[in-house]
Amino acid sequence: MSKKGIDAAALLRDAGVRATPQRIRIVEILHARHRPLSIEALVSAGKGVFDMTTAYRAVETLWKSGVVRRIDLKQQHALYELAEDHHHHAVCTSCGAIQDVSMCISPSLDEKVRRAVGFSRVDSHALEFFGICNACAKK
Ligand SMILES: [Zn+2]
Ligand SMILES: [Zn+2]
Ligand SMILES: [Zn+2]
Repeated sequence: MSKKGIDAAALLRDAGVRATPQRIRIVEILHARHRPLSIEALVSAGKGVFDMTTAYRAVETLWKSGVVRRIDLKQQHALYELAEDHHHHAVCTSCGAIQDVSMCISPSLDEKVRRAVGFSRVDSHALEFFGICNACAKK
């Protein structure tokens, strides 16, 4: 858990979205937890600042403006995290533990894929890893 504070209002302003109390709270929660969260987890962490509907709408806005990243970890719900640094995830398919993977596949793959599919641009990629963590393997 990061101890460093975050100026959520400034981050939202820089992204061109209005800094509503709900959006600020969501950014603060994602920053403090420092792990991908579902909308449901955000709502329970928000302790009544927003309900599911408000959270869905706020997260959708944050996603569209590039403040948060949507991650599909093959779980029931999509997860969201702040789109700060580019990284990937390793997920334990037994206990659901999520680890950040800070190394990236060779960026040259983006260019190879771009040429292979004939796109004019490849802007990003999503890549997650699934396996069994050490704690689960020992059980
Ligand atoms: Zn595990
Ligand atoms: Zn992450
Ligand atoms: Zn990458």
